[in-house]
Amino acid sequence: MSNPPNKNDPINIVGAGIFGLSTALHLARRGYTKVTVFDKQPYAQTQYSYLNGCDAASADINKIIRSGYGAQTVYQDLTVESITGWESWNEDLASGQDLPPGMTTRDRVFVNNGHLVLTDQDTLPPFELATIANMEAAGYRDTQLTTTDPRHQEIATAKGLGDAIDPFRRKTAGKSNVGVLDTTGGFVVADKACRLCLHKAYRLGVTFVLDPVAGAFESLYYGPGSGSSIKVIGIKTKDGQIHHAAMNIIACGGWTPSLIPQLDDLCEATAGSVAILKIPRESPLFDRLAPNNFPSWQWKMRDGAQGGLYGFPRDENGLFKIGYRGTKYTNPVRQRDGRERSVPITRWSSGNTNDNNDGKRITAIPRQALQVIQSFLEEYLPEIAAEGIDIFLTRICWYNDSFDNHLVIDRLPGTEGVMVATGGSGHAFKYLPSIGNWIVDILEGVDMERPAVKAWQWRRLEKGQTPVNVLMTGSTGSRALGNVPLSSNTPLQPGGRANL
Ligand SMILES: Cc1cc2nc3c(=O)[nH]c(=O)nc-3n(C[C@H](O)[C@H](O)[C@H](O)COP(=O)(O)OP(=O)(O)OC[C@H]3O[C@@H](n4cnc5c(N)ncnc54)[C@H](O)[C@@H]3O)c2cc1C
Repeated sequence: MSNPPNKNDPINIVGAGIFGLSTALHLARRGYTKVTVFDKQPYAQTQYSYLNGCDAASADINKIIRSGYGAQTVYQDLTVESITGWESWNEDLASGQDLPPGMTTRDRVFVNNGHLVLTDQDTLPPFELATIANMEAAGYRDTQLTTTDPRHQEIATAKGLGDAIDPFRRKTAGKSNVGVLDTTGGFVVADKACRLCLHKAYRLGVTFVLDPVAGAFESLYYGPGSGSSIKVIGIKTKDGQIHHAAMNIIACGGWTPSLIPQLDDLCEATAGSVAILKIPRESPLFDRLAPNNFPSWQWKMRDGAQGGLYGFPRDENGLFKIGYRGTKYTNPVRQRDGRERSVPITRWSSGNTNDNNDGKRITAIPRQALQVIQSFLEEYLPEIAAEGIDIFLTRICWYNDSFDNHLVIDRLPGTEGVMVATGGSGHAFKYLPSIGNWIVDILEGVDMERPAVKAWQWRRLEKGQTPVNVLMTGSTGSRALGNVPLSSNTPLQPGGRANL
């Protein structure tokens, strides 16, 4: 391993999503004095709001916090560590010291209103049983409450989570409600959390270049290597400027595989489908679906294309978000080296048309995703249709999936001066307060034998290993957006932004 940078060496971070932000914060906390974060998104103006043109995975209204990770205790431990961080950020906000612009002492980034995992089977799936066992083994007894167990229902009520154990009121309707309520979980207010982390890093001296031209990474900048090694000595941005640095950390989420082709077969950008409803303030659902009455939830998360749903309570503007992950769609584009890689395309991408979709702008989501969401709502929340509430907007949101769902935090093999911090695979937002501390450890070569650090190393699918995610099936594959029917386009409703 090459030497870590000195504390006064320049360090470039590309990407101000959760990986880049957390890395910047923890580098600054450890005394690195010349850290610069580049992003093509003008976050100072757009404030990480999807409705204001932000299309990163981290730029969102809310994200799930859950400790339940089945047998993967590495992530259980990381979540527990991160929850401590979230709680302390809530305390910082409440104290009113050093508030980010536009935020007040009433703001909270973490809401511990429980996270409910539901199945449509009669018994809990093995993943949930493993979660219960592993949380108990780690000392978190009675934090994972089985919805059908009367003792657990009482505990939920005692913890103020009585509504969260049956938020869809299945019991009253005489219907099955089998699941587990993770009382350590809930959700985070994603856009505000990013703003808070950025502010903390900025106050510690980190420089941010957030601009569609000056902040847009174009390429790595190479210098003379030593021996067989290639050496990167900086980055080139879209304005033609070269930014020299001893270390260049690429953390561009779903855009990373198309920027760093060495990630082929390790990571791929895949699309999640999101539908957002708007609950009117005058509706009785506004109170019922409020965070103090309604948890974040997942439904049939590991059950293939007809499952894979998750959702949240409504937010302060009444936005009620449901996501579909049952099929992980791709957008393969042939790149200059002749290989196809999935490249994020969103409502806000420049020249957003997909030739395979007859030039249609991608404001729609796949029809399959919409159908699963609508069937779920009919069965689990019929009050939505009864109240005449329709979908307010749809969003395609880009993950960077690794083949094994583990993060990827390592130096680029055979190349000095570059690291990647990516591979969030649908679950990394919750680590925002703490993942940067691990990234800096890895940069400095600290305690590299820890299981998490090893899991995140550069790797290849071993012979005989079954991937969690099958990657790079290309433009002829069944998951390519060009090969799936889309729902009708959902433009932002007229006045949608103003109404918020
Ligand atoms: C729909 C959806 C739901 C999710 N739900 C959850 C959840 O409930 N809980 C959870 O913990 N996690 C969740 N995740 C996962 C989590 O959001 C991601 O793992 C995490 O946000 C990824 O952060 P990132 O920094 O890797 O990427 P991103 O947030 O995508 O950020 C990448 C940044 O790189 C910038 N960038 C890209 N290209 C360039 C370039 N050329 N030059 C400069 N900048 C560039 C982008 O503008 C962007 O700001 C979800 C993800 C999605 C998509």
